[in-house]
Amino acid sequence: MDQFAKKWEHKSDDKWDISLKSFVLPAVFLAIFWGLAILLSIQSGAMFYLFNFGYIGTSVAIGIFLIQTLPKKHKAWGRRTSQLLVGCYMLFFLGFFGRENMQIEGFFMLLLSGVFAAATMHYLIAKIAGPLIFGRAWCSYTCWTAMVLDLLPFKRPQQKRIKYLGALRYLYFILSLSLVLVIWYVLKDPVKPQSTTELCWLIGGNLLFYSAGILLAYRLQDNRAFCKYLCPIPVFQKITSRFALFKIKIDPVKCVDCGKCEQVCPMDIKLLEYKNNQQRVLSTECIWCSTCIYECPKAAASVTVGLDMGRKERLYFR
Ligand code: SF4
Ligand code: SF4
Ligand code: SF4
Repeated sequence: MDQFAKKWEHKSDDKWDISLKSFVLPAVFLAIFWGLAILLSIQSGAMFYLFNFGYIGTSVAIGIFLIQTLPKKHKAWGRRTSQLLVGCYMLFFLGFFGRENMQIEGFFMLLLSGVFAAATMHYLIAKIAGPLIFGRAWCSYTCWTAMVLDLLPFKRPQQKRIKYLGALRYLYFILSLSLVLVIWYVLKDPVKPQSTTELCWLIGGNLLFYSAGILLAYRLQDNRAFCKYLCPIPVFQKITSRFALFKIKIDPVKCVDCGKCEQVCPMDIKLLEYKNNQQRVLSTECIWCSTCIYECPKAAASVTVGLDMGRKERLYFR
């Protein structure tokens, strides 16, 4: 559905670019999130929703505004700003202060208990339904694990992916689910929402994620190694992000096949194969970091809106 494609145009390389247009996308995000915030808080009578969705929407809108206006070489700071604002809020305020286990085990536990809490909403919106529109944008703009991993020094993978190691994420997913099922049905000792036990699960889960993520990053010289091989969250995201309305596209007319976009892609995606097949970047491994857009010397890569569905993953392996 290329005729519906809209370009997220490049801005100047070394100057701020503040115009009326740079407020449009942030305003759209503000309207969506604040609309949701007001609706949910009126329906439930809980001010939490107003604060929660208002804060997240405002943080993402600030990040998008920075992306729209910053000089090209600094645009990644827009994404990093949103990631820090939302990541810290979720981890420290909702997690540690609110004692809500936002790790995958917390979500499974809430599903079994039938309690509709922040973690349930978070998974449904950010990790299951959200990717239908924005793909895996969660992984670049808001994840509190990647918020730390992105600070490590291996932004560009030194080597390509290790084949089949990605199967570990499915193993992790099954182990997490099995653990929760055993606690629920065999031990009959469910973790009570907002209890000290839940807080311990949250701390333990995050310590595991951070230590595994940092170890893998240094071992494989790749900040996003944890995202490629071990994190169980993409098991959800990869199903719905196939249909994402927003995806990266390379304009075959502008592209000169220099290969820079593939060299800088942190997820080892063969962008040019998608271009040669006249497709948008359909890979469910795309985390929407926009590095390919910022680094393309010909402004050939952009975010487009369209209807299509990813099937074959085109990735570089060692
Ligand atoms: S793959 Fe997992 S750790 Fe990586 S950014 Fe996505 S949710 Fe976060
Ligand atoms: S960096 Fe731009 S010009 Fe070079 S191959 Fe990629 S899309 Fe084409
Ligand atoms: S294709 Fe572009 S946006 Fe997607 S992960 Fe690679 S560099 Fe990031």
